[in-house]
Amino acid sequence: MAIARTTEPITDSDEVLERSLGDAHLPALLPALALASGDLSLLREDLRPTMQSPPLPQGGLSREAQAEAKAVALAALRRIRDGEVRQAPTMEGLRRAIEWMTGSSAQAASEYLPLVMEELAISEEDPRAPKWRKPSAVDFTVAIVGAGMSGILAGIRLRQAGVPFVILEKNADVGGTWFENTYPGARVDVSNAFYSYSFAQRVDWPTHYSTQDVLLDYFRDCAQEFGVREHVRFQTALDRAEWDEERARWVLYLDTPEGRETLEVQALVSAVGQLNRPKMPEIEGLDTFGGASFHSARWRHDVDLAGQRVAVIGTGASAAQFVPAIAPEVASLTVFQRTANWLANVPHYHDEVPAGQQWLFRHAPYYAHWYRFWLFWATVEGLLPAVRVDETWGQGERSVSERNDQLRALMTMYLQHQFEGQPDLLEQVIPDYPPGAKRILLDNGAWAGALKREHVSLVTAPIARVTEAGVETEDGRLHEADVLIYGTGFHASRFLTPMHVVGREGADLHVEWDGDARAYLGITVPKFPNFFMLYGPNTNIVVNGSIIYFSECEVHYILECVRALIEGDHASMECRQDVHDDYNEVIDAGNREMAWGASSVNSWYKNETGRVAQNWPFSLLDYWKQTRAPRPEDYLWR
Ligand code: NAP
Repeated sequence: MAIARTTEPITDSDEVLERSLGDAHLPALLPALALASGDLSLLREDLRPTMQSPPLPQGGLSREAQAEAKAVALAALRRIRDGEVRQAPTMEGLRRAIEWMTGSSAQAASEYLPLVMEELAISEEDPRAPKWRKPSAVDFTVAIVGAGMSGILAGIRLRQAGVPFVILEKNADVGGTWFENTYPGARVDVSNAFYSYSFAQRVDWPTHYSTQDVLLDYFRDCAQEFGVREHVRFQTALDRAEWDEERARWVLYLDTPEGRETLEVQALVSAVGQLNRPKMPEIEGLDTFGGASFHSARWRHDVDLAGQRVAVIGTGASAAQFVPAIAPEVASLTVFQRTANWLANVPHYHDEVPAGQQWLFRHAPYYAHWYRFWLFWATVEGLLPAVRVDETWGQGERSVSERNDQLRALMTMYLQHQFEGQPDLLEQVIPDYPPGAKRILLDNGAWAGALKREHVSLVTAPIARVTEAGVETEDGRLHEADVLIYGTGFHASRFLTPMHVVGREGADLHVEWDGDARAYLGITVPKFPNFFMLYGPNTNIVVNGSIIYFSECEVHYILECVRALIEGDHASMECRQDVHDDYNEVIDAGNREMAWGASSVNSWYKNETGRVAQNWPFSLLDYWKQTRAPRPEDYLWR
């Protein structure tokens, strides 16, 4: 793995430069080169991308404009290579570049500037690294539960701050979801330029959207390279955590390979994720099935699917990946769909990163960073308005606003194109809810390609029961199968189960939540001092975005909490109930104004009370701003 700290000097010929530019993402390359060369005249009005979500290829630049942009970029690359220019970007340059790329006002660009400074790591290598260290005389240890993406991250930052920590991991390796989900076709659906730690940018991702094995290696490498792996206790599960108020300690009861053990720490960080407890459907007769059956997150690689009659229940993000992957080898495939998905057309979803782009990531100063920022803007912040409810729109379950309706039209056209000549199938796959009410799945034609195969059938009749021979639907049909695969998702709203967390005065976290998990900033909970969560309630994003971004914000906040405890000589900090409650009212109101909150469609974003307990309804900038540091007045300090 090549983590890019700085770009390599350009020593190649004009020919290599020109060839590489053939694969360049021009809306990201021009601002990168403008800043690196100090020549802001590269940001020409006639070469400015049209910022639109979903984004247009090359920002909608015409062929002529693309050719001109390449010529401009070639000249700049040459000047940088020949040592004529190489500048540290100025603030004014950065603001102008944001304005140019996003089409935002100067005011909006200024608002994003501090965040972009961090994202682009302009003035230092890792601006998000803690700027403080625990004094050696202070006794303070943190336990992190989970060595997935967010647990590794917390470990990296605590190590940098010199705070002792241990990571408790139930599995035999790091990686979390990327360790557990090994189903065929598993890959990330957020581009790796964005789905990667800001401080560990790789310049050699083999594909735009990495497969599971590549991501698992990335997280393994990061755990190793940043000195975290040696702090992980594998096959060690936290069963119960109890807060001892008098001694201001969390007492942890662990199940280890050697048996039961206790451990005491000053702070506890949950990094267990939302999607790691497989959910089996509540369908009669599951136990009676005669063949092999398994959940997608517990894939049975020992079951050979070749030549088998396979039935799949569920058509979510997991099934949308493994159904196309297994379709070619099975004898027959019956896919049971309860709710159809909106698909976003991403032609390069499975493609390799072209050589020219790899060269630019390696050599063109700031290119990788601006590419990351382009994705951040075009596929995250920019998409939010398309899923926000317009109260005056009044189209019910069709769409939530004019912009949302346009998105619907675009994605309907894509489905029509994909299922051309198959009107029966088309009718089944067009969702009857607004885009964004459930997760929009990325697609390059693989889904339709699988469903249109002769031996694959899509069944939308409700399932009545599972029998020894297969799956029976309510229309009385028995769909025979040798193997039954559950792509039925996770117990996402049962946050932190099956752990028992007992806070001040015996408060049990699950009793407090009563099936409706809430937290302040998704991180802290009243009555649970020195307890912090990563990827906690209301920190999930729907219209893409990278959960790593959220984790970096959360970890930054938690480190600032630990710092405040240590530097303020406090034994504990506890979120105030009124602050927590007010915050949750704002979150709930925000979610009601989004497609996923307004629509009545079922989704894992809602818990059993019907409340959206998963999602963050505001911008990424908003979350970043709110997690800069704990406000002293939000907490009870002891
Ligand atoms: P999911 O989105 O919750 O999908 C579960 C599927 O099972 C849905 O189609 C659901 O239907 C169906 N289902 C559940 N119970 C059923 C029942 N009793 N009868 C019939 N159908 C039933 O789970 P997932 O696909 O594992 O994905 C979960 C999340 O994980 C994703 O939203 C995403 O955030 C993440 N993920 C990401 C990736 C990626 O990055 N590429 C891949 C996989 C997962 P309904 O829709 O009607 O509920």
